[in-house]
Amino acid sequence: MTFELSERVQEVPPSGIRRFFEIAEERDDVISLGVGEPDFSTPWAARDAAIASLERGRTSYTANRGTRELREAIADYVADRFALEYDPGEEILVTAGASEAVDLAFRAFVDPGDTVAVAQPSYISYEPGVIFAGGEVLSVPTTEDDDFRLTVEALEDAGAETADALVLCYPNNPTGAIMRESDLEPIAEFAREHDLTVFSDEIYAELTYGDDTDHTSIATLPGMRERTIVFNGFSKAHAMTGLRLGYALGPEEAIGAMNKIHQYTMLSAPTTAQHAALEALESCEDDVRDMVDQYDRRRRFVLSRFREIGMDVFEAKGAFYCFPEVPEGWTAEEFAEGVLREQGVAVVPGDVFGPGGEGHLRISYATGLEDLRKALARIETFVENTV
Ligand code: PMP
Repeated sequence: MTFELSERVQEVPPSGIRRFFEIAEERDDVISLGVGEPDFSTPWAARDAAIASLERGRTSYTANRGTRELREAIADYVADRFALEYDPGEEILVTAGASEAVDLAFRAFVDPGDTVAVAQPSYISYEPGVIFAGGEVLSVPTTEDDDFRLTVEALEDAGAETADALVLCYPNNPTGAIMRESDLEPIAEFAREHDLTVFSDEIYAELTYGDDTDHTSIATLPGMRERTIVFNGFSKAHAMTGLRLGYALGPEEAIGAMNKIHQYTMLSAPTTAQHAALEALESCEDDVRDMVDQYDRRRRFVLSRFREIGMDVFEAKGAFYCFPEVPEGWTAEEFAEGVLREQGVAVVPGDVFGPGGEGHLRISYATGLEDLRKALARIETFVENTV
């Protein structure tokens, strides 16, 4: 018997990152700067809360939208940190990772034939998510000249006026770019003028570095709350990737539509993780600050080492990635494969993240300083020997 795969599934190519992990897995001396997840463990208080909830037998489903306590804590947290005002009753949906929230949004708002503009290079799941929902992706490449910020010019060049929705992710995976309020204002104006729904993935909102880089959500700009869905979660800032917990914020009607899918397909987000997340919001602020400090130290180290090596790298100010340019004469893929085979350092070629990523490498510094030191020394040797 053979399965007849749906056209949507056939349309999506396998993940471009996987091949590199397969090579990396063949050897045991590889330092990976390839993965997009914190090397820190979940703060102890959150882990203890998860354990305590299990000991008390709290292992049932929760309300579809998540426990009331957690939604209230999320409402307080996003108001306090990002000036986002959402009602815990009807405007917040707790999901199995931000990934589920993104998927629900595409399924709730994208019809077959709809076009979703995606600012790229970007996280690799948006494009497949749009295709699985039956929509079409319009790539909007950003460039290093603009510090990988989205501009109205880029939107116009791509023809995004006719799109139905726009996906943004700042702080950005894979570039580490951030967008300040003044950068977001023209984008918001464009979205209002052309009546675009905005999907704003803000999962790296806590991870910004340097002066004047505090995160601004596009949903806080005039006229944007009513057309924006914000995604966030606990994977990055709270180092909780495996607990699978995220959330969506949006107007009642939008969150209600997403919850309609969620209540049939997921029922509720993982209960143990919801207990951990509540504690993470209530008592782990210092742990988050400490991780942010450490990421910042690593970020400055990695940026300065690439410059010493003679590779161009733009000043990433968010998430835990930097995005250096490969030396002339190389494609990103050739460089990434060479440095992996010859020096045992795994990095991801920027092309994987869509137009705009060519000729760059995504370097994750969610790795200890000692390994970063070794990895950068190996990259330096590779460049000296082969470039
Ligand atoms: N959005 C972005 C930009 C990400 O980088 C990731 C994780 N790599 C996710 C969403 C998914 O996060 P979660 O673990 O909450 O599903």
